[in-house]
Amino acid sequence: MLKDWLFDFKFLFFPEFCLGCNVLLIKEEKKICITCRHDLPAIDLKLNNSDFLNLVFYGRVTLQESASLLYFRKSGKVQNIIHNLKYKGREDVGILLANWFGYELLAEKRFQTIDAIVPVPLHKKKLRQRGYNQLTTFGMRLAEIYQKPYVEDVLVRKYANTSQTFKDAFSRWMNVKEIFDVQNTEKLINKHVLLIDDVVTTGATLEACSIALLKINGVKISILTLAKAE
Ligand SMILES: [Zn+2]
Repeated sequence: MLKDWLFDFKFLFFPEFCLGCNVLLIKEEKKICITCRHDLPAIDLKLNNSDFLNLVFYGRVTLQESASLLYFRKSGKVQNIIHNLKYKGREDVGILLANWFGYELLAEKRFQTIDAIVPVPLHKKKLRQRGYNQLTTFGMRLAEIYQKPYVEDVLVRKYANTSQTFKDAFSRWMNVKEIFDVQNTEKLINKHVLLIDDVVTTGATLEACSIALLKINGVKISILTLAKAE
C-alpha cells in the first residue's frame, strides 16, 4: 500500500517517458511503452543462422554463429532506444534488452557453446568522455543469463575512430586492419567468444575486432548485435 502510494507520488513528480516514442509511461510500464514493445521490429531468432554477417564475412572471418535482435530504421524506435543507451546515459536500457532477449536466445539454443562475452571496446579517450561503454550493462546481464564471464580487458581499441575525418584509402585501411588489438590473451586461448556490438551496418568494425581476436590461439567467434541496419 505504502509502496503503491510512494510509486504514485514519484510518478507525479518524476514522470517517465518512453525511450522509444517519448509518450508518458503509465505506472505498469518500465522504460519502454507497451506499444513500442509490441511494435519493435524484432528479428526472428530462429531464422538467424543465415544472418547477413556470415555473408559479409564470408572468406575473411569464419563465424560460428551470428544474430541481431532488432532492425535499425532511421528515425525509428530502435534508433531512439539505442540513442538513449549510447548518448543519454540510459545504461539501464541494456539490462532491459538483455532481459527481454537473453532468455529467448537461450530458449532458441543460440550461442550454446560460447565461453565468454566480449564487447566491441571504446577507445580510452572516448570512454572517458562518455563515462561508460554502452555495451557493458547489456553484456554483463547477458553474461549472467548465460553464466559465462564478461571479458572486457582483452580486446582493446588502439586508435580512436578516424573514418569520419580521414577519407583517404590509407586511413580506411588503418581503420579496418589496425584499430583493434589484444592483450591478456591467455584469458581467451581456445575459447569460443561471443563478440557483441550495438548496431551493425557494414560489419567493418566487427570484422576488425574479429581479426584482432583471431590472433589468439584457438579462438572461435560468434557475433550478436542489438540491431542491424535494414
Ligand atoms: Zn513508446
